Formats: sequence, structure tokens, C-alpha cells
Amino acid sequence: MEIKFERFHLQSDSRSPLGGSEIISVPTEVRIDPLTKRRSRIITWVLPPQDKFDFSKMAQESKGCIFCPENVLQKTPQFLNEISSEGRISVGGAVGFPNLYPAGTYGSVVVLSSDHFLNLNQFTSEIYEEALSVSVEIIRRTMGFDPDARYWQISQNYLLPGGSSILHPHLQVIGDPIPTNEMGWLLENSTSYYKENRTLYWNDLIRIEKGLGKRYIASIGKVHWFVSFAPIGFNEVCGSVEGYASITTLGQEEITSLARGIVSTLKYYYDKNLNSFNFSIYSMVGETSYQLLIRIISRTPFQSNYLNDCTSFEVLQSELTANIIPEELCCEIQPYFP
Ligand SMILES: [Zn+2]
Repeated sequence: MEIKFERFHLQSDSRSPLGGSEIISVPTEVRIDPLTKRRSRIITWVLPPQDKFDFSKMAQESKGCIFCPENVLQKTPQFLNEISSEGRISVGGAVGFPNLYPAGTYGSVVVLSSDHFLNLNQFTSEIYEEALSVSVEIIRRTMGFDPDARYWQISQNYLLPGGSSILHPHLQVIGDPIPTNEMGWLLENSTSYYKENRTLYWNDLIRIEKGLGKRYIASIGKVHWFVSFAPIGFNEVCGSVEGYASITTLGQEEITSLARGIVSTLKYYYDKNLNSFNFSIYSMVGETSYQLLIRIISRTPFQSNYLNDCTSFEVLQSELTANIIPEELCCEIQPYFP
């Protein structure tokens, strides 16, 4: 199995609405992911975000939420004794506890800090280092209790367009004995690649991307940051952690490298007037053909004329769209990385 970067160039022609004989041509590109073979549609005419949205009124009105410091240790659920006799797990300003409304076998929330609201340029590496450390601890302790829960996601849904009803920054840590669709696709295809080539897809991809120099952003410690050839979301940035398949074995250095890459990406989003995002870390214990991956995407920003970014393409055609050419995104975001 070879790593191939396949694409289709599509073009739509029409006569100008201004009359005359001018023909307007609009290109669209469909790219096929070299691992999953999933198609992505890159649509570059999407309207740019408006100015930065002022969240001060919204933040003021919702302050004192269940994740704010006066409530988080009083009103949130506590872990079973088998997982944590202290009830909650904290590192620095980050606090983890079970989700009252879980979406799987093990669902936890990690509140990032005491700040009720943060603009994307206010997230720091320390905030994510602490939150990821709490997440890792939750997973380690839960797996000590239930080793069958091997498939974990650490995800962030930030602000309403990202799917969060609570402004206060927090992560979701969700574990199950079965993988999600995305984890299954990553795992099955990584395994097939390994069986055929006897090499790790992720190492080969990184080597090729480094050589091409079009989508490889930077390495921070053992984390290789790059833009996907076939993104499945807006402004998608990925990080692959060399030598690890599961987040449970990461040391402090790797956690710091992940945190720094997340913060660099968020600072770029902020400068582009974006404010809402999602990320997922796909963590699978005991898999030798897979390498730990984080994927960060921006969402249509919260603004006065909000436009939902899930259209019939995403929800009914299973064809995910991106709004910037990956190679251009790589050039733009590179200066934000150390
Ligand atoms: Zn709050």
C-alpha cells in the first residue's frame, strides 16, 4: 500500500450576473485521504469571519456557572472510590470529575481553569498541560479499574458553534471498550498498512510530508504538527506523537509539546477572527500499528449572523468540507509555532 495524494479538480462555469460575455469559473477540489480513503471537499469561496465578537456581556451574564471556582468542588459529581477516593482529580488549576450526563461507559469533564471565559489568545500552555495531565490521570486510574476500556477520546467543544452549552472552558474525556467510528477507521487502515508494508503509516507519512515541505508545520519535541492533505474540517491542524499510541504512557515532555501546539493553533485562529473550535485526541491502548493523533478544527465563529457549518454535504452526504487550501494554511500557521 502506497501513500498517495489523490485529488479531483472540479470547476463550475457560469455567465456573469453583470451581463456581457464574461464567464465566471469557480474551482472546487475533492481530495482523498491517503489512509482512510475518505473524500474531502475544499470549498474556498466560504465567507470570511466578521470582526472579533465581544463576549464580555455573555461572559458576565453566565458567570457563576457550575464550573466556576465557587461551585466546581461543591456541585459536581465525584468518581467512584475505585477510581479516586478523593472524589475529583486536580492538577494546578484543572479539575476533573465524572460527567453527570455521560455519552459512553466513562465520561468525565475536566475544567481547564478558574476563568469562566477565555478568548482564544488567552489559553496558555500551562492551562493545557494541567488539563491534559488530569485527563491522563483519569484514564490511567479508570483503566486500572477496568482494563477493557481501551478506547479514549480527549475532546474540547468550545463555545456554542462547537457544541458546548457552557462557556467555561472544559474538556470531555470519554472511554469505552469499543472505538468510535473515527478511531475504528484510523485503526483498521493503520493496521492494514502495517501488515502490507511492515512500517508504521504515521512515520512514513511524516517522512513524506517533511520531504514535500508543503503541509508539515513543525515538530515540538516528539509531536509532529502538520496540515492534513484531505482535511475533515475547517483550518484543520494535526499532531502525531512519535512512539506512542495511547495518551496513558505520555511523559510530561510530550504533554507539554501537545499543549504548546494546541495554544499555537488557537492563537492563529484568534488572529483570523475565529472563536469556536473542536479538538480530539484519539487514544488507543495496546495498538502497535497506530500512532497517537490530535486533530484540531475551527468552527464557524459565533457572530451576529451565525451560519451553521454543517450542511447537507456533512450530515447527509458524509463528505466533509474545508474552507482553506491545506498548503496555504500550512504557510499561514507556521510562524505561530515555536
Ligand atoms: Zn464558569
